[in-house]
Amino acid sequence: MSIDATATEIVLRDDAGMTAHFAMDGGLIAVKSDGSAWDLAPGCFGWSLRMGFDDREPQMLRPSAATCVSQPDTNHLHVEFDRLVHEDGREVEVTVELTWELVDGLLQGHIEHVELPEGLLPAALAFPDILLPYSGNAQWVVPRDIGVLIDNPLSDAVDAPEISAFRRERAHMQMTAWLSDGAGLHLDSRDLDGWMKSLLLRVGRQTAELSIEHLLPQPVTGQPEFPSYSVSVAPFAGGWYEAAQIYRPWAIKQEWASRGPDQRRDTYVAELACWLWLRGRISNVCPAAREVARRLNLPVAVDWYWWHKHPYDTSYPDYFPPREGAEAFSAAVADLQANNVSVQVYTNGMSWDLEEPRWEAEGSKCTTVLSDGEYWGHVYNTWMNRKLMHTCGAAEGWHKQALITAEGVASLGLDGLYMDQIAIVGGTTPCYSTEHGHIPGGGAYGVQGFREVFRKVRAAEPGLVLSSESVAEVYQDLLDCCITLQTSWEASVGVAGCKGTTLIPLFQAVYHGHAIVFGNYSHIDGITPWDYLWPEDARPAPSEEQDWHALCPDQFCLDMARTVACGCQPLATNLTMDHLNDPVFADDVAFFLDLSRFYHAHREWLLWGEMLHPGAVDCAQADVTCIQRSIFTRPSTIKPFTVQRAAVLHSAWRAPDGEAGLFLFNYTRDEQTVTISRPDGLAPEDGESTLTLPARSMRFVRLVEG
Ligand SMILES: [Zn+2]
Repeated sequence: MSIDATATEIVLRDDAGMTAHFAMDGGLIAVKSDGSAWDLAPGCFGWSLRMGFDDREPQMLRPSAATCVSQPDTNHLHVEFDRLVHEDGREVEVTVELTWELVDGLLQGHIEHVELPEGLLPAALAFPDILLPYSGNAQWVVPRDIGVLIDNPLSDAVDAPEISAFRRERAHMQMTAWLSDGAGLHLDSRDLDGWMKSLLLRVGRQTAELSIEHLLPQPVTGQPEFPSYSVSVAPFAGGWYEAAQIYRPWAIKQEWASRGPDQRRDTYVAELACWLWLRGRISNVCPAAREVARRLNLPVAVDWYWWHKHPYDTSYPDYFPPREGAEAFSAAVADLQANNVSVQVYTNGMSWDLEEPRWEAEGSKCTTVLSDGEYWGHVYNTWMNRKLMHTCGAAEGWHKQALITAEGVASLGLDGLYMDQIAIVGGTTPCYSTEHGHIPGGGAYGVQGFREVFRKVRAAEPGLVLSSESVAEVYQDLLDCCITLQTSWEASVGVAGCKGTTLIPLFQAVYHGHAIVFGNYSHIDGITPWDYLWPEDARPAPSEEQDWHALCPDQFCLDMARTVACGCQPLATNLTMDHLNDPVFADDVAFFLDLSRFYHAHREWLLWGEMLHPGAVDCAQADVTCIQRSIFTRPSTIKPFTVQRAAVLHSAWRAPDGEAGLFLFNYTRDEQTVTISRPDGLAPEDGESTLTLPARSMRFVRLVEG
């Protein structure tokens, strides 16, 4: 199909009515579908390169006019570039060929061929890289952890003369979306291998530049490899849920989603009523766990921290023997198991303490080397100022160490092994080591390495259930569950983060039933525990504590309700016998136990179901006073803050047998009346769309075709 020489634009069309409009120079002008049309900002070619490693000095290298644009048929466009332009106008001769095509309502692009001058090594490929007019009421859908919605991101910079403000976000799924006045623009990438990538938003000149960035290898000689997978751009009508539904059909067909409800029912994770995240001494952990299992008369799991030899966040990966001895610990585990409690232990899946005696000889060989030649590490434990060094997934020595840890954990009779950090940041940081057998810089070796670690551990210890932190999609087939803390949104992001950002269960809208997420970071008394192996002289004085429960009487129950409403398994952290027996906490404990029973009875929806459109539940707003606190926060620095939240949380799910249900959670201390309305034709079975929920209660409403 030839292009008319007098035409001013080239239009690709598909049978579904979507069109993509290109300029004669290959620039992307607009994408349109039923209900959503986006006119893009000038200069948008859909991709660019970044030469700089510092986001403040990105040194962009952008395409200008293509040398050849051809349209082989109605829904394909082939574009060739022979030069790129630096911001200062200098040009670089290159060869880049890419193809755009319309497929299933998506504009998909992929790089066919790249040749760069010898020595030109871009840090990243931004693809898709979309320039949008930044209008009011913008929202950014971000797949960080289970999902975040950001209102008017970087809006302070909209009128700046240059597009220089930036915000980078993790991408635990390969999708993002921009929403504005009911119209959405979805971006995704369709990488099967786990290339290092993140999301980047730049704002200025009334423009938002939104991209998925793929970090490129930095070979010592020769051409860098470029990603060959497709990326997508799709206009749509709706919000974050609709964006997830664009990504989901592809996502759940991939290897990492291959274990669905039918493949995940055979571990204790499937049978649980709740998790308890407990720490330290056997006398602190076991009575409380047994008591919760007894009161529920249902299976419970303990995520046991601070069981290992050394103080928390020090001396990893030297864990054994347990601090109270292997014999006592194994007996405690066996006793829990006999009382309907499964047990997993904390280990760190990608850290080696800089001060651990073997770091110098062995740990350094496993550690990620940054582009400046320094080893990558971070001080989490500010009480002891100990630096954990982060390993590279490709380092063979780390694979051996992971197997040593797994063997030790299995030999103690444990049910599960938690490998911290991998599913939040594993394989996302470029490594420049020359000792790990990979090309320096970006690529997929880190993720592939950590996948291999999980595979080896599963093969060596098939009886251990595996879990990790956060929800990176690319590991889900090799994990039995993941913990999220983000369900404790206010405690996670604080007063500043609560302004203009909202938690959304975006991950569950894509993967629920194909991945299991549990948890929150909620302490019933607002007090985080102290590891008794940390130096006592570093411990803040008890007088720094306040009556947090009295100041924040609803934060715990809000977190609990939100955990289950988001389709995650309920969890309480640091619940002790004192809490379980104290009348002050009795109502909160009762809500947690009620919620656990309710979750357990409705697992076909809340564990295995496919998320339906949340619909609307009209209800009162509640003032909820909260604190932000981690185990490394000084209590004297904590300032309670108050947020407004829906008094009744809700979500809707379709069980594998096809039954649909709406779930309502009233976490407040007052009766609440709600009115249900749905966009999908489903309606409450009994026809009643107005309901009253008693204080601190939850309700299942069966939905049928209205
Ligand atoms: Zn490496």
